Amino acid sequence: MFSTLEQQVGNRLILPGDSRYDETRKIWNAAIDKKPAAIVVCRSEEDVKAAVQFAREKNLSISIRGGGHHVGGFAVCNDGLMIDLSQMRKVKVDTKRQVAIVEGGATLGDIDAETQKHGLATPTGTISETGVAGLALNGGIGYLRGKYGLTCDNLVGARVVTEKGSVLYVNEENHPDLFWALRGGGGNFGVVTTFEFALYPVGPEVFALDVLYDLKDFKQVLHNAQAFLADAPDEAVSINFTAAVLPPAPFLPEFLHFRKVVMAIGMYAGDAEEGEKVMQPLRELAQPIMDDTSVIPYVRLQKKLDPMVPPHVPVYGTSLYLDDLNDEVMDILLSKMESTPAPSFLVQLWSLGGQMNRVPANATPLAIRKAKYVLLVDGMEIGDEGVLWKKWTDSFYDELLPYSHQKASYLNAFDKDEEVLKNTVRENYNRLVKVKKNYDQKNRFRHNHNIQP
Ligand SMILES: Cc1cc2nc3c(=O)[nH]c(=O)nc-3n(C[C@H](O)[C@H](O)[C@H](O)COP(=O)(O)OP(=O)(O)OC[C@H]3O[C@@H](n4cnc5c(N)ncnc54)[C@H](O)[C@@H]3O)c2cc1C
Repeated sequence: MFSTLEQQVGNRLILPGDSRYDETRKIWNAAIDKKPAAIVVCRSEEDVKAAVQFAREKNLSISIRGGGHHVGGFAVCNDGLMIDLSQMRKVKVDTKRQVAIVEGGATLGDIDAETQKHGLATPTGTISETGVAGLALNGGIGYLRGKYGLTCDNLVGARVVTEKGSVLYVNEENHPDLFWALRGGGGNFGVVTTFEFALYPVGPEVFALDVLYDLKDFKQVLHNAQAFLADAPDEAVSINFTAAVLPPAPFLPEFLHFRKVVMAIGMYAGDAEEGEKVMQPLRELAQPIMDDTSVIPYVRLQKKLDPMVPPHVPVYGTSLYLDDLNDEVMDILLSKMESTPAPSFLVQLWSLGGQMNRVPANATPLAIRKAKYVLLVDGMEIGDEGVLWKKWTDSFYDELLPYSHQKASYLNAFDKDEEVLKNTVRENYNRLVKVKKNYDQKNRFRHNHNIQP
């Protein structure tokens, strides 16, 4: 069945039984164990075209692996064709256009390494090993969101291999409907082989906030943080508050092992000296237990949290957009954290505002532009505790839903769910369906937050 494809892509075709098969279908979420009929490890756009055309001929569904980090495990599928872009990671900077030209399998670290050579950056996320493709296609929330918006807001062009196997260059002028859909509609419309992102002068040194507070001060920290954020400038509104039990890891001092903390992490997206003055209140939200705030290279900040994230771990996650964090919301969060099924958890609240919230709700498919926070909860499923973790994680969603912003969730941190998808793209849903019908009538690209044609 696969001989014609093999003629085109050679040993980049991997079938079950091949010694490389299990390693190649492995993705970040170790709880996912899906078995594609075949995998093509693409080296070029030509490989992608050959793979898509083959899937069309043989009526196979297609899953696309960018960085393989989506918690829902969308990068791999059962019985379909997995298009693996992990070998397509080149990044070029066009300084004239102030644009980064990025291959579809690049990680955030690949982009920063190249763009920072020119003192430039594009808004991405906060862990350097994450793939940019999935992140950009469903949002992209990082430390530059307040000043420059989300990753999807900064997409200015893309090359896409469509279901028909043709290559389209899309931007505001060429195929504007498809270009619009890519900026929040996920991997529904084809394989993006190249992204073009707008660049801005950032760093190379930035004022990087990194303060640890005791979890017992959670309410005080968030109460004071909200007062600060209410009238903070765009440069200072992108702060991630992460409640966690710190691991007994060698990179942490021993007195922090197993300590329940809330971390305030962020950066000032402007002059570092000015940042130090403006962000001082964030270092005094309560009595800190450690303050590692400093002026550091932007590239270092972008990698600072990498050691906290294992490369391959069984995870179950949920998410909700929230408005103000009132006492009731904080009491629910605290009671959940006190009743974890195992002695570790990761509960994140990312503050939203500034430029990302000035984008009109219909300018991109991502309609949620007025929420103040996004909550992300990740339970690590460990052995028999997996079921308990799932229940615990879901209970955040259930209990906080009445307090949520329009019942919407961050799609990059949520498994497939049609209702949640509709709550998040809102009035944009029908337009997404139209684009889907135009470009993927057969729904070959269905391993994602699926828009049914
Ligand atoms: C450790 C960790 C840290 C994270 N930190 C952040 C953060 O700071 N900010 C943030 O916003 N999010 C963050 N996320 C969430 C992240 O945005 C999503 O996991 C995102 O989907 C990752 O993209 P990927 O390419 O690695 O995913 P994949 O799992 O490879 O793909 C995700 C989806 O995108 C589609 N897709 C992938 N590549 C392409 C392509 N080239 N063309 C078309 N479709 C494609 C896939 O089909 C799939 O549906 C984090 C996730 C993890 C696991």
